[in-house]
Amino acid sequence: MDFGLTREQAMVRGAAREFAQKGIAPTVGDDERGHCYNDKIVKEMAKLGFFGFIAPERYGGTEMGYLAATIAAMEIAKESPSYGVTFNLQMNAIQSVLLAFGTEEQRARYIPPLISADAYGCFALTEADTGSDIASMLTTAREIDDGFVLNGSKMWISGVPVATVGIIYAMTDPEKRHRGMSAFMIDMQTPGIEQCAITEKLGLHSSPTGEIVFADVRVPRDAIVGKPGDGFKIAMHMLDRTRLSCAARSAGVAEKCFDLAKHYANERQQFGQSIINFQMIQDQLARMWCEHEAAKLLVFKAAWMLDNLEKVGGRPTLQISTAKYYGAEAAVMAANEAMKIFGSYGYGTEYPIERFYRDAKSYQIVEGTSNIQKTIIARNFFEEKKG
Ligand SMILES: Cc1cc2nc3c(=O)[nH]c(=O)nc-3n(C[C@H](O)[C@H](O)[C@H](O)COP(=O)(O)OP(=O)(O)OC[C@H]3O[C@@H](n4cnc5c(N)ncnc54)[C@H](O)[C@@H]3O)c2cc1C
Repeated sequence: MDFGLTREQAMVRGAAREFAQKGIAPTVGDDERGHCYNDKIVKEMAKLGFFGFIAPERYGGTEMGYLAATIAAMEIAKESPSYGVTFNLQMNAIQSVLLAFGTEEQRARYIPPLISADAYGCFALTEADTGSDIASMLTTAREIDDGFVLNGSKMWISGVPVATVGIIYAMTDPEKRHRGMSAFMIDMQTPGIEQCAITEKLGLHSSPTGEIVFADVRVPRDAIVGKPGDGFKIAMHMLDRTRLSCAARSAGVAEKCFDLAKHYANERQQFGQSIINFQMIQDQLARMWCEHEAAKLLVFKAAWMLDNLEKVGGRPTLQISTAKYYGAEAAVMAANEAMKIFGSYGYGTEYPIERFYRDAKSYQIVEGTSNIQKTIIARNFFEEKKG
């Protein structure tokens, strides 16, 4: 289904699908089993222009927009949720922030190498003791004459330990809580920064995740993005974009699980017939179909809104959180149902179902948990009391 995609958007989908099938699928099983992050794949994605959808041409981008970006992310995630994460690290997190809040110098310095994958990005909000409640973060940035000194640590950060640049959130005025948070664009080789990998996790084994420690890290004044105290506003802007990508990837995983399960149900014979003849299998497939179709449409709508902010007249946070919540739940549901339809073969590693089952769980956590998305959605339900 083309869903009114432009010719260019349809070409992006074709290129992403082809690359996912030819450039990622042949090695994805071995890479995941070996916990191998293959930067050649990221560089190939860069060559295809996958990290340039939101930036103008003068920085090396195409400015095709968020709908194109979500279509590409969806296709990559169908083969590898791990390499799907790179859309946020190379593009949605850092570029969107610098384009909206950065200086010309910051944009010119950081965006081109992220688009070409000569730099590897990360964004760091989460800490060991603060996840959903980001305003309680403990990492500080103390102002000094010529800049800031960062101290603290970040946990569960995608792209670590291979990140070369990062957008780091820290408190410049902790007592003011969310009004005292600031964002910094930082070279990860700055003295005092240590990156360590988290080696044991459920899935996304080709997507590095780790911890960053900041010990008296001196950064120049021009490392700050926007003004001191702008960090929370910047983080919300960023999360709208990173959540949308997450929603797109989860819709891709839901669709892939459906496709694999449908094919298997046609092939697998029990009681002298294909198991797709059994009504209970049809029920499972029908529900998986509805869930992934709904997830995809919510993603397309939210992406279209982000690309048409002047028509929409305001931030489409409600639609993005709706797509993120629904997509994550649809991916987990579809992977779970696919596991059942595949029986023992789902539990084994011959088919990728167990990998999608593990990877899909991340979508319910990252970029704000499913509960947090429901909280954001429900904020819109309070009616003003009269009188
Ligand atoms: C693979 C992976 C990659 C990640 N990558 C990054 C990254 O690149 N950068 C980054 O900054 N972070 C990253 N994270 C961290 C992720 O964003 C956080 O884990 C997430 O925001 C949840 O925080 P938490 O784990 O501390 O859970 P908590 O906030 O401790 O939540 C625990 C539980 O309580 C619930 N809960 C909390 N508050 C409420 C509330 N108000 N109402 C209802 N329920 C609530 C949550 O839904 C959850 O079920 C990553 C995490 C993973 C697993």
